[in-house]
Amino acid sequence: MPRDYYEVLGVARDADGKVIKKAYRKLAMKHHPDRNPDNPEAEAKFKEASEAYEVLSSDEKRRVYDQYGHDGLKGRGFDPNFTDMGDIFSAFSGMFGDLFGGGGRGRGRGQSRGPRAGADLEYPLNLDFMEAAHGCSKEITVHRHAHCGGCSGSGLKPGATESGCETCGGQGQVIQAQGFLRIRTHCPACRGTGRHVDPADRCDDCSGSGRERATEELTVTIPAGVDRGMQLRLVGKGEVGDPGAPAGNLFVTIDVEPHSLFKREGVETVCTVPVPYPVMVLGGEITVPTIHGEEQLDVPRGTDSGKVFTLRGKGIPRVNGRGPAGDHHIQLVVDVPKKLSERAEELLRELAEEQGAEGSVQDRGFWQKLFG
Ligand SMILES: [Zn+2]
Ligand SMILES: [Zn+2]
Repeated sequence: MPRDYYEVLGVARDADGKVIKKAYRKLAMKHHPDRNPDNPEAEAKFKEASEAYEVLSSDEKRRVYDQYGHDGLKGRGFDPNFTDMGDIFSAFSGMFGDLFGGGGRGRGRGQSRGPRAGADLEYPLNLDFMEAAHGCSKEITVHRHAHCGGCSGSGLKPGATESGCETCGGQGQVIQAQGFLRIRTHCPACRGTGRHVDPADRCDDCSGSGRERATEELTVTIPAGVDRGMQLRLVGKGEVGDPGAPAGNLFVTIDVEPHSLFKREGVETVCTVPVPYPVMVLGGEITVPTIHGEEQLDVPRGTDSGKVFTLRGKGIPRVNGRGPAGDHHIQLVVDVPKKLSERAEELLRELAEEQGAEGSVQDRGFWQKLFG
């Protein structure tokens, strides 16, 4: 005759569910097979406590037990006689995980299941400045594992069929017993795929793997406005997975080459334009470059060298049109000619004289004051 369940757990007959659970956890912790390897006495105690908890934690079974005792349970098919430790773990799954602070050996987390998805791939793509700004279409060559052409990825010879793996019953996982513990792991017979293919039925081209090395030409549409470091995702263009599992993705990582004239900060563009001295002084209209073509700009009279003018919306478009395009900033600097015609030189000297500039430039005293 089994011991009284209340006695086993060491609780009063009117103990509530919380108290019962606490008592069981304490006992289970103490006699857990993980902590008492090869100790039949601890195993028996663990089992006894688990049976008591199985009954007392259920309102219905507890009522039957209170009224009719062990025989009453048997009569109603409630006999909680666990035949193996695995039953205990599966009956109270979730309880043992937190019992050992999540560190319980191999139970619960981290199991991988079934056929594996394909790996992601990355393709670095260099664009010139204008391609990135305006968008473009690019042919890229990708080396990857694709579905085998001979079997379309099934890994089977034409006409051959596969069956479920016998070792794991097609689950892809097996439960391995380690001492009293049961550990769920990848089925070694089918490597987690759950399939069984007779070696004679395997595709000759890929030896049953369902995949082959492939070189593929892909056309990538680059949206206007992409910038260095952005990634485009081509869904399903990574490595193919196991039969039945999705392929990985291909990530195209953008790099953008610098431009000789334009600089870029996000969606804003900047360029520096040399302007003849008389235009800066007297004002006038000039032609300035933008990434979209030429624009006219009014230079006001008396513009300082280094002054920046902004053309709204003449910068880089936002990717996928999310918001207005950026601005284009034009910095005007005085164009200092390295070569002068005789006439120009004559006029400049005359101007210098008029302004008294010649004298001041040659006045060494000014520079001495400045640099000590
Ligand atoms: Zn094949
Ligand atoms: Zn298997």
